[in-house]
Amino acid sequence: MNNIYHQCQYLCSAHLSSQLPPEHGSEIAFAGRSNAGKSSAINVITRQKALARVSRTPGRTQSINFFRVDDSRCIVDLPGYGYAKVPDNIRRKWDKTLERFLSKRQSLCGLFLVMDIRHPLQPGDWQLINWTAASNLALHILLTKADKLSKGAAKQRMQQVVQQLEQQCINATLQLFSAHTHQGIDDAHSMLDTLFGFK
Ligand code: GDP
Repeated sequence: MNNIYHQCQYLCSAHLSSQLPPEHGSEIAFAGRSNAGKSSAINVITRQKALARVSRTPGRTQSINFFRVDDSRCIVDLPGYGYAKVPDNIRRKWDKTLERFLSKRQSLCGLFLVMDIRHPLQPGDWQLINWTAASNLALHILLTKADKLSKGAAKQRMQQVVQQLEQQCINATLQLFSAHTHQGIDDAHSMLDTLFGFK
């Protein structure tokens, strides 16, 4: 199947806010706790083996990476958060970078939040959800590693997450996902299409 996301190409990386590429067109960012499965999700969605680096050392890649979808659209890979061994001053610096990116980046039109279905809604996730809501960005949640639970348990877990978000008046769409079984890829493509304005 030909799919525009399969043609994604690495564009550039920014280690500091000053290195961000000029704002242009629409961007959708992927974020998640270290080890949640964000890189694997990006690679499967773009059908590329190593577009985003699947990390053996959590918390190692601390850059904002841009992948070009077409002339006016980019997927943005945000640094993973919540890795316990990162020193406090670096953690604070990256929290600031993330918050600034989510609140100031005009070309950003949505966030894909990747959470391990077995450990959803950790404090760092809530922080990101709240920044996203404060910036009025569309929020789509991938509950990944769904293959680690039975079908029934995964559905139940998703329902619990929906309820917790509703209790906090958070507007979001959610889906089950697995980079290993490819569950949920069509739904993820469809949500990217919607947020990028393809349909
Ligand atoms: P990141 O730090 O969020 O980018 O996470 P990675 O994509 O590097 O994945 C962290 C670990 O989880 C790796 O060992 C992956 O093989 C594993 N992983 C990622 N996605 C899945 C999935 O859908 N199912 C299972 N079972 N493991 C996954």
